[in-house]
Amino acid sequence: MLTDPLPGTLDVRKGASRGATVRGLLKPLDLPRFRELLAGDDGTIQARLELSRDEEGRYLAHVTTDASVTVTCQRCLQPMPIELHADSDLAVVWTDEQAAHLPGHLEPVIVTGEECELRELVEDELILALPAFSYHEQADCNTVLVDLNSEAVAAPDRPNPFEVLARLKPGDGNQE
Ligand SMILES: [Zn+2]
Repeated sequence: MLTDPLPGTLDVRKGASRGATVRGLLKPLDLPRFRELLAGDDGTIQARLELSRDEEGRYLAHVTTDASVTVTCQRCLQPMPIELHADSDLAVVWTDEQAAHLPGHLEPVIVTGEECELRELVEDELILALPAFSYHEQADCNTVLVDLNSEAVAAPDRPNPFEVLARLKPGDGNQE
């Protein structure tokens, strides 16, 4: 289990040249754009970046992210836990031209300065991994429970049609 926070920035050229692996823990509040899509501040995010260079001299990052966070169920609008996993092969580039020349299986990450903003990179991965809509399992969803309860409460107040008929029909008990 990771406990150290993910470093904020990294010199990808240096890291890739020595085949470094960078990993660390983040909280939803560390990633404001991702946090906006969640139902709460609680949760943990583990990120791991394996850096390398390929034969063409490209700077590669294999990025793995695992998050346990809370989102809003779109059926009952109550919070629900969700596990996210993302796994991507990225190529770190410094110009649009470099990005345009990457092979199809590599996703470009354009870095403007020397250092790559690792948290933003992880944040983008998580935003892409997040489903557009999340729903509780039917049995756990609060809408279903509320509906069942309201029916149970309403039932005794509703007149039983058979009892109504029985009252209208002259029965033995009414003849005195
Ligand atoms: Zn629900």
